[in-house]
Amino acid sequence: MGKRKFKAESKKLLDMVINSIYSQREVFLRELISNASDAIDKIYYKALTDDALTFNKESYYIKIDANKDNRTLKITDTGIGMTKEDLENNLGVIAKSGSHTFKSENEIKDGHDIIGQFGVGFYAAFMVADKVTVISKSIDSDEAFKWESKGSDGYSITSAEKDEVGTEIILEIKQNEEDENYDEFLDQYRLKQIIKKYSDFIRYPIKMDITES
Ligand code: ADP
Ligand code: MG
Repeated sequence: MGKRKFKAESKKLLDMVINSIYSQREVFLRELISNASDAIDKIYYKALTDDALTFNKESYYIKIDANKDNRTLKITDTGIGMTKEDLENNLGVIAKSGSHTFKSENEIKDGHDIIGQFGVGFYAAFMVADKVTVISKSIDSDEAFKWESKGSDGYSITSAEKDEVGTEIILEIKQNEEDENYDEFLDQYRLKQIIKKYSDFIRYPIKMDITES
């Protein structure tokens, strides 16, 4: 009987997690913007200690581009970038399912910020995207690399073209299904609202071109 009870509780927890993740999938943008901001912090601190580098405030920003026709959402930053090894070590783990450190049941307080508590970070992109492409050039490398993944089936890293140091993350936003609509993540006004809600405190400019449509 003990076993049965445990199963019921696990199912309840799982439902809570899924529902919470579902209703909070907009936080993927908070996660990606926070990573972009961290990357700019890193280049800023590097410039403080490296005489060869200067930090020109105007050159550091985060940019969001939504393309409804291609169903892509792009997050660009002018941060420190990633080497091939960084891409492998920092993003590679997502392909190993179960490698994420899910916090224990009693650490999950009220389900309010379950994504934050689970610390999924970059992986949150897969809540809204079928495919994620990361094109990055590190301050420590002359070459740029492209990391691509459709989530569960692994990832690939290949050479890429990128002139500026920094990172570009391209999300191929999921197709709508009968009961799930993802169009909001391609709508610039909705995106602006999400940015205001979660990323108002970010110290670098978050740019978004408003296009006529
Ligand atoms: P966390 O931010 O908690 O470390 P994430 O899953 O959000 O975890 O990101 C994993 C790692 O990937 C980061 O620590 C960082 O090293 C790297 N990373 C992610 N996005 C970027 C980016 N835009 N620029 C540079 N590095 C990044
Ligand atoms: Mg993060």
